[in-house]
Amino acid sequence: MQRAHITIFDTTLRDGEQSPGCSMNVQEKLRLAHQLDLLGVDVIEAGFPIASEGDFNAVQAIAAAIRRPTIAGLARACAPDIDRAWQALKDAAHPRIHVFLATSDIHLQYKLKISRQQCLEQARDAVRHAKSFCEDVEFSPEDATRTDPEFLYQLLEAMIEAGATTLNIPDTVGYCTPADFGQFIQNIGQRVRGIEKVTISAHCHNDLGLAVANTLAAIVAGARQVECAINGIGERAGNAALEEIVVTLRVRSDQYPYETSVFSEHLFATSQLLSETTGVSVQPNKAIIGRNAFAHAAGIHQDGMIKNPLTYEIMTPQSVGVPDSTLVLGKHSGRHALSLRCEQLGHQFDRRELDEIYRRFVVLADKIKTVTDQHLQELIRETRGAGHRIPPAHVEAHPPAAASAAVGQNVGYFQKSVPASAGELHSSTLSLTPVSEHHGEQEDYLWGV
Ligand SMILES: [Zn+2]
Repeated sequence: MQRAHITIFDTTLRDGEQSPGCSMNVQEKLRLAHQLDLLGVDVIEAGFPIASEGDFNAVQAIAAAIRRPTIAGLARACAPDIDRAWQALKDAAHPRIHVFLATSDIHLQYKLKISRQQCLEQARDAVRHAKSFCEDVEFSPEDATRTDPEFLYQLLEAMIEAGATTLNIPDTVGYCTPADFGQFIQNIGQRVRGIEKVTISAHCHNDLGLAVANTLAAIVAGARQVECAINGIGERAGNAALEEIVVTLRVRSDQYPYETSVFSEHLFATSQLLSETTGVSVQPNKAIIGRNAFAHAAGIHQDGMIKNPLTYEIMTPQSVGVPDSTLVLGKHSGRHALSLRCEQLGHQFDRRELDEIYRRFVVLADKIKTVTDQHLQELIRETRGAGHRIPPAHVEAHPPAAASAAVGQNVGYFQKSVPASAGELHSSTLSLTPVSEHHGEQEDYLWGV
């Protein structure tokens, strides 16, 4: 059977970055973007160019450096935003302008203070303006799920006529259930004239813990793009978690006859890199990439796992890139082992960079017996902080991280603890990188898609 392709639109660097504590500077965003490219996402929403100088620079840098995926920039439905977005995006190999405007009565009345007719005209003008720069234009009716459906259909038809190529349906407030949202998407597919010419997209928030379920319901109902973020980061309770959507589609391919371009073997590394960059870790029991996701503590489970991993596992840790727990790094480890572990944690270095990391690694390994992942992360950070500027990971075609441990051997991986000898580390080596450049004060940009 022909499997429909689902476009994975990653908004870790835009909606995700809006989560408290998740703001990233240009260098950090660029590094993440290289990792997202490696992961195989189709679209990277790199930021909201008019929101700040830093955001503009990040979108511009990503557009220039990352050539395979589409690079999207967010804009409100007005010319200055769209002009600014285009300036940041114009060097992209595949640029996309993402325009949004609220459409629910409550937003029109209290936030924007405009009528439905004004809303429709403003959205149409904005999409036409974006289209004058860029073939690929996405429109999002913010708070779509609380918008009068008849008005929404009318507005979406106008957006198609104005040249939008993707219509994204956000459940901005995270209120829908899977049945609601699936029906909502299905109605759009049936009621909006010309809808077959464009891609329907879903953008779900997790206020009720239903973002992934709603996203899957949207796919079944006809959405062919999904907006999501690594580790499920995003406004309030977050966006739909990219790793959960991708792995569910894969593990339950019997229920979901769809495919994505994501290399799931890079999920763990990408999640690690994001946590490491923002300092915001995921809950231990987080599906797919949490540190307990593959840990089996109960005796009866361990017994089953040893006899046959399939007794308690529906997927292997390797399939999502959880590293080989048997690869212990110590003073006798070579560059190759070090490089592999760095890669599993989401960092790739060229030879020169690796030499510097390795030099520091050997010094550390001489002091302490085993270099844990935390040590390695500190060491990478320290090297960067010391002015040895490490450019973002180079993205070259290479095979997925070779995590070859037998499944059962991963049992102990996540039970590692920082050894007592970590105290030998000089406190300066454990200091965090300077606080990343934040957006600073800015207007209320209503980042609410
Ligand atoms: Zn959102």
